[in-house]
Amino acid sequence: MPELPEVEIVVRRLDSALRDATVESALAPGMKVMKTFDPPLEALVGKAVTGVRRTGKMPIVDFGDFSLLIHLMSAGRLRLFDKRASLKDRASRVLIRLEDGRELRLREFGTKQRAWAKLLPTEALAEDEAVARLGPEAWPAPPLEEFAALIDQPRHLHPLLRHQGDIAGIGRSWVDEILWEARLSPFKKGSELSAEEVERLHAALHVLGDAIEHYEKTIGEELPDKLPMPLQVHKHEGESCPRCGATIEAVYFSEHQTNYCPAEQTGGRVLKDRRLSRLLK
Ligand SMILES: [Zn+2]
Repeated sequence: MPELPEVEIVVRRLDSALRDATVESALAPGMKVMKTFDPPLEALVGKAVTGVRRTGKMPIVDFGDFSLLIHLMSAGRLRLFDKRASLKDRASRVLIRLEDGRELRLREFGTKQRAWAKLLPTEALAEDEAVARLGPEAWPAPPLEEFAALIDQPRHLHPLLRHQGDIAGIGRSWVDEILWEARLSPFKKGSELSAEEVERLHAALHVLGDAIEHYEKTIGEELPDKLPMPLQVHKHEGESCPRCGATIEAVYFSEHQTNYCPAEQTGGRVLKDRRLSRLLK
């Protein structure tokens, strides 16, 4: 799932490629994708793209006084194509056709239709519930005091950091990288952190900025289907920790997993696989 660094590089590339392009037509072949109906998508016809940006993990395409807010969920991808899609492309959810022949396409892979879009007057964007509920952006990191206050909750760091209402932009991949960078257990509670640990966690958010820099260097004008994510621990179970050499471990949940270095993050303890322990009960 695209997280803050991945969405950031996508919107940067789309912004430079799409600015001033004029919309010829706009369609939503995905039956359930549009969560708004007024203004209708057709209201974009004749309008020019004035910018592409993001808030948290959500891309926003601006067309003058209208904005298309997109939630990619886990399998949505936003890309620009030189040619128009066949309407038989079953992955298509939203197609913005441009007068110059190109097409901005929201596609979604897999069987579940979860990605969505809303066309809103730009002035109403900040009040939209999906935007209004977001906490501060994880990168650039909020000031330390603000971060310390939002992290001071009796909840495990792994879900806490991924909760967009507390801090926006972090998902299942980057949370593992941030906690590894900070040398903190995913199962430590926010309210249990010492002041020094809070500082370490706050400083560790730089991995998001580093990832954006990595993408800036490695990705050209054309966005690849799959971004080369510079992950060190996430999904690296069984491999050696790049920092200390201990074996990276994993805890599996029904839809995701967390990876960590036991030597540096959990005082040498290998955490129980909760899926396995539930089965054994
Ligand atoms: Zn290690």
